[in-house]
Amino acid sequence: MRAERSDGSVMCHDLCMADVQTGIDPDRLRIALDEVRDELAAAARWSGRAPGAVELLVAGKYIAPEETPALVAAGVQLVGENRLQQLQEKQAIIGDALVFDFIGHLQRRKVREVLPRVRLIHSVDSLDLAREIAHRAEGTTRVLVEVNADEEPSKSGIVPSQLRQFIADASQLEHLVIGGLMVMPALTSNPEDSREAFSRVRDFARSLAVEWQGRHDLSDLSMGTSQDYVVAAQEGATIVRLGRGLIEQGRV
Ligand SMILES: *Cc1c(COP(=O)(O)O)cnc(C)c1O
Repeated sequence: MRAERSDGSVMCHDLCMADVQTGIDPDRLRIALDEVRDELAAAARWSGRAPGAVELLVAGKYIAPEETPALVAAGVQLVGENRLQQLQEKQAIIGDALVFDFIGHLQRRKVREVLPRVRLIHSVDSLDLAREIAHRAEGTTRVLVEVNADEEPSKSGIVPSQLRQFIADASQLEHLVIGGLMVMPALTSNPEDSREAFSRVRDFARSLAVEWQGRHDLSDLSMGTSQDYVVAAQEGATIVRLGRGLIEQGRV
């Protein structure tokens, strides 16, 4: 999915591989990361939480594999990938110097390869996928469920009206624990546009956490991208996923 910002630059929420960035300067990226971390700490305090409550994930899809060492040098700790191949290529280069999550649409046949490579899958969007993860997992596996908060037909994720039933069904899968919800907001140039969806998802997660206490923890909220991470953190995000905005600032 691509959309033009008012300044003519392109927002790209799926894979726009032509836009893959090279030439990342670790020192510049470190400065940009520090700024974002400060903003996240302030937003966490604003929401009555500890300053370290929001984890910064760098969305890796715009970053060429050969740039991965620059991420490590800049102090990045957590990267989210949308594709198995990118994950494999980057891990082949830097080993376990970075922790990886999976944030893109995941095909069932790739679950076996992806699982041992990542800390957390953010994007469980079907019962078939949940089943495959439970089947392939060694021991208990914690995942996030992707919510299509705006009920956009073109987007993946479970629509809010089906979320309760989805979690009930997923609860039949013995080794699967729902660790929280993930949401990909609608493209916008005004961060405030996302606030209502974020707060709705947070409230939904809280009520589900009460219902499923002892079975699912539902404590993580993965929400907010470059366009709205501060608003997301104010509304209770525990993980924000920044790609383009961050990488552009870190370029030479
Ligand atoms: C690309 C991507 C992001 C980051 O979006 P930016 O607009 O580049 O900050 C976050 N989450 C997912 C699932 C993505 O694919």
